Amino acid sequence: MIVMKFGGTSVQDAEAIDRVAAITRERLPENPVVVVSALAKMTDQLLAMATAAGAGNREQALELSLGARERHFNTASDLLGTGRFAQIHAELEEEFNALDELLRGVVAVGELTPRTTDNIAGFGERVSSRIVTAAFSCRGLNASLVDSRQCIVTDANFTRAVPQFEETNSRLSETVKPLLAHGRVPIMGGFIGSTRDGVSTTLGRGGSDFTAAIVGAGLDAERIEIWTDVDGMLTTDPNLCRNARRIKTISFEEAAELAYFGAKVLHPATLLPAIQKNIPVLVLNSRNPKNEGTRITATAPKSKSIFKAIAAKKRITVVDIVATRMLMAHGFLKSIFEVFANHRCAVDMVSTSEVSVSVTVDSSESIAAIAADLGKLADVKYEGRKAIVCLVGENIRSTPGIAAKVFSAISDVNIHMISQGASEINISFVIDEADVPKVVSRLHDCFFAEVDPEVFA
Ligand code: ASP
Ligand code: MG
Repeated sequence: MIVMKFGGTSVQDAEAIDRVAAITRERLPENPVVVVSALAKMTDQLLAMATAAGAGNREQALELSLGARERHFNTASDLLGTGRFAQIHAELEEEFNALDELLRGVVAVGELTPRTTDNIAGFGERVSSRIVTAAFSCRGLNASLVDSRQCIVTDANFTRAVPQFEETNSRLSETVKPLLAHGRVPIMGGFIGSTRDGVSTTLGRGGSDFTAAIVGAGLDAERIEIWTDVDGMLTTDPNLCRNARRIKTISFEEAAELAYFGAKVLHPATLLPAIQKNIPVLVLNSRNPKNEGTRITATAPKSKSIFKAIAAKKRITVVDIVATRMLMAHGFLKSIFEVFANHRCAVDMVSTSEVSVSVTVDSSESIAAIAADLGKLADVKYEGRKAIVCLVGENIRSTPGIAAKVFSAISDVNIHMISQGASEINISFVIDEADVPKVVSRLHDCFFAEVDPEVFA
């Protein structure tokens, strides 16, 4: 069996869901389990309703809910035609009435708890999975709705619930396997689960990828397909470099390095259950289903190319901390990092010498306050409008002379920090934001002009 997960943009309207049915039909011989997100932007809107209700804005919350109700009704009737729409109309009505009741309840008690937030946030997947099931049936696919809350068992850590794998796996086997055995296509909402006591939870934003991985790992899928609206992962941002190529295959670790740099196709951490079981994950485009996309595997196949991708992250601030006191002192780094922690500020890249530390942070408003606190310990300077450029590839590990090649290609550029992490699968450095287009396109020309056709399209 395989798992096919369709994200929000892939189910955003009737036309998109129609494409999803056609894509799934092609895969029927492989016994697909389908996982769907909420319609695009729906989860944001549900959370906006919850917030409005929590703030006592009853009318606003109910108006947003009415908009959502109409959108789903229109999508369903476009997909199903009037006759068949009548059949699920009552079910959708029931869901949206329950949502309105919850919103009124929140207004009445004047408090929005994480538990209620999760209940409200999950409506998007509850209704999208119903609509997709009906649309599939209407198109002659043997679809069966599976309520994910009956299968994905989590702890009660609302808004970021953690799956309880043993229980989840046995429920998946009990519920989903028999459907597959009868030639049916199980449809599940992503993102949602429930506690052992049946209280609704969610797996955190973007959690549908996680659902796909949990289901795939639990049922020993042959592969997991993540259907989105781009042709997989690229060697670099096509806005920075017109010659960007599609990456055909990438390792899980490499994909994880790129995630921080806004390769926002998916968050690889959520794929971990699948990767641990060696199940390949494919990123595919529901608007261009013939494209082969990107294959993410536990270990990358051997390739002659040194790098898989070049990423750049702008809006970085570099903080330089200099203290002669640091010479041979212990505990100094700890006190510095404590300052960042106290301000809940994530530090990304670090370089140290005997008397200085440089770190990068995403530009944030708290930087002045952080600098003031650091000023009590050392001399501090900070400068914004910087960017991190990161070259990723597992072959960095085994190839000598790479850093020399990278830096000689950009020898005229001022470099503020350099880091090659312990994982040895990336080389990162900090430059002025203004130099990003020049640096990325030059490095791309240097390392991707001739590439291994097995790995790049
Ligand atoms: N609908 C949820 C969200 O927007 C989960 C997902 O789509 O992955 O976060
Ligand atoms: Mg997503």
